[in-house]
This record gives sequence, structure tokens and C-alpha cells, in this order.
Amino acid sequence: MTITATLYNNTAADAAREPKRRSALPPAVRRIVVVGGGSAGWMTALILARSLIEQGVEITVVESPAVGIIGVGEGSTPWLRGFFDSLGIEESEWMPECHATYKCGITFAGWSTKPGFERYFHPFASMLDNLTMTQFVHNVDARINGTEVYAHPDRFFIASRLAAKHLAPKPAEHFPFDIWHGYHFDSVLLGQYLHKKALQRGVRYLTAHVTHANLDEHGAIASLGTREGPAIAGDLFVDCTGFAGLLITQALKTPFVSFAENLFNDVGPGRFRSPSVSAMAMFTARSSALRMRPRPNCGNTWVCSIRTRRHGT
Ligand SMILES: Cc1cc2nc3c(=O)[nH]c(=O)nc-3n(C[C@H](O)[C@H](O)[C@H](O)COP(=O)(O)OP(=O)(O)OC[C@H]3O[C@@H](n4cnc5c(N)ncnc54)[C@H](O)[C@@H]3O)c2cc1C
Repeated sequence: MTITATLYNNTAADAAREPKRRSALPPAVRRIVVVGGGSAGWMTALILARSLIEQGVEITVVESPAVGIIGVGEGSTPWLRGFFDSLGIEESEWMPECHATYKCGITFAGWSTKPGFERYFHPFASMLDNLTMTQFVHNVDARINGTEVYAHPDRFFIASRLAAKHLAPKPAEHFPFDIWHGYHFDSVLLGQYLHKKALQRGVRYLTAHVTHANLDEHGAIASLGTREGPAIAGDLFVDCTGFAGLLITQALKTPFVSFAENLFNDVGPGRFRSPSVSAMAMFTARSSALRMRPRPNCGNTWVCSIRTRRHGT
């Protein structure tokens, strides 16, 4: 099957349009416990709440008072739009609260020393791009096979054009194609927003430090022990404890499989850039390769502009 932007867009759009599905959850599952109150925990709780709360399933997010969230990250791919669409949450609601801006793609600056390829703009593909994507793929193939043809996505994708002109990816209503896009946002505010929204939708919140999981005779998790005292019982447990891997790795002994050997680049020093920029000034994240000692050609810095500041890591 040829993967086209239409397929890509429609997959997410279908998910958003779908009526709330009756879940195939076994009837015995009445209490779901999500351990972890970072972005993974609140997103999981919101997705589960969408169809399960009205079926009477109790969903509780448990968060340790002693372990903080990672709380960094400031850019998304278009799938965050799919996430909010599927929950029926409008951009006009969450974007201002999280100081979010639109993102058409990512500029990779200095990642190659090959003349003509010092920078690369990765566009988020839209339905409109189906008209030109075949030519783009053809040119890439031809270039790989040694023919000197233009092989940057810049001339073939609407997102590249929009970013270059600092235009938002929001077409007029009568425009017959969907323009797909991601966002930049303040990740702390996004975490707070997801937390608030989940509580509004009936998710419960418990502050407790989970010390261990109690397993039943089949080796499945039956309840969680806490430092505060009371055990937390549930019928289904979701591990969103991030690097701790409290349930998956520690309790159930599922080994962590590292992807490190496949990474070309594993360093990103944290810092903030200038405190403010004009709102909506940029529609592209910019990633610049670092040439650092003692390991040259590793690491990168990111710049993602949001409404109130220029974010960089
Ligand atoms: C420099 C950097 C840049 C990044 N940039 C991006 C980006 O641009 N876009 C993007 O999407 N991602 C980005 N990421 C990744 C993103 O930040 C993380 O994937 C994400 O924050 C992880 O969230 P999480 O909810 O899985 O874990 P965490 O944020 O670590 O949350 C873990 C939760 O588990 C709880 N917990 C842990 N132990 C216990 C316990 N014993 N009992 C009870 N609760 C417990 C904690 O209290 C916390 O609430 C970046 C990461 C880094 C480091």
C-alpha cells in the first residue's frame, strides 16, 4: 500500500470523528489505577475517561509527592492534534492556556556538511501534498541512484512554504484540504491543563508514593503498597512512572530494552533562550547540531517559540 498524506491525515481524523466506542474492557474491570501524573499519566487517564467513565469505571491517577515529573519538552508532532480532537477539546480552549503556537515542521540546521544539504526542513505532510509527493519520492530515489535532481522537501510540501513565509497552517473554511500541523507549547502549563481537564471529566487524583506492587497467585498486580499506608486496589493498573518503570520493570520484571545503540545523537543540553519573542513569530522548530568536545558531532539544541518566550533545549 502506498502511504500518502491523505491516509496519514485520515487515520487521525477518523479517530477524532469516531463515536465513542463501547470499550471491549472485560466487565470485571471496574477500577483502573494509572500510576504517574506526568504527561503520560494524564493523557492515558483522559483517553480512558472518554469512553469508560460514563460506563461507571473508576479511573484514578496516583502521583508521588516525592518524585517530580520530567516537565520538559515543548514541541509536538501532528498526533497531539489527533489526541485533542479525539477528546473533543478545541484549539481555542487549550492553546491559549498552554501558550501554544502552530508548528509546520522542523528545521534541522547544520546536521550535514554536504554542500546544498547543510539544512533540512522536515515538513508535516498534508492531504494537499498528495499532488506532489509522488514527484518528491521520485526525485529522492533518483538522487539516491546518482542523478543530480532537487531532493529537498521544500518545493514539494505546503508546510515548507507556510513555515518559510511565517504563515499559520489554518486555511480558510472553504479550503478543500486539511492542513496538518503540530504545536509548540509550555510543557508545564500543558501538564497542568491535562490534569485540570481530567479532573473535570471525572478522573480521581491521589497523592501517594507507591513502594511496591502486591501480586496475585497468577503473578498479576492485585494492589499497590504505599509509603503513606493504605494499599491501592484496582482491576487494571497502568504504569506511567516514566524512567522508574515501577510496575512494568520493577514489579513484573519486564526487561527494559534500550534503543541507545540506534541513536546517532543522544545529547541535548538544557537552557532557555531570550525571554520573549513576538507571538506566533515562528512556525518551525529549529534543531541545530552541536560540534562538541570530546565527542564531536553529537548533541543538538532546539528552539521552539511559544506565545510568551523562545524555548530552547
Ligand atoms: C531535554 C528533553 C527534551 C524533550 N523534548 C520533548 C519534546 O519536545 N516533545 C515531546 O513530546 N517530548 C519531549 N521530551 C520527552 C518528554 O519530556 C517525556 O517523554 C515526558 O515528559 C515523559 O512523561 P512521563 O509522564 O512518561 O514521565 P514523568 O514526567 O517522569 O512522570 C512520571 C510520574 O510518575 C510518578 N511516579 C514515579 N515514581 C512513582 C512512585 N513510586 N509512586 C507514585 N508515583 C510515581 C511521578 O510522580 C510523576 O508524576 C523531552 C525530554 C527531554 C529530557
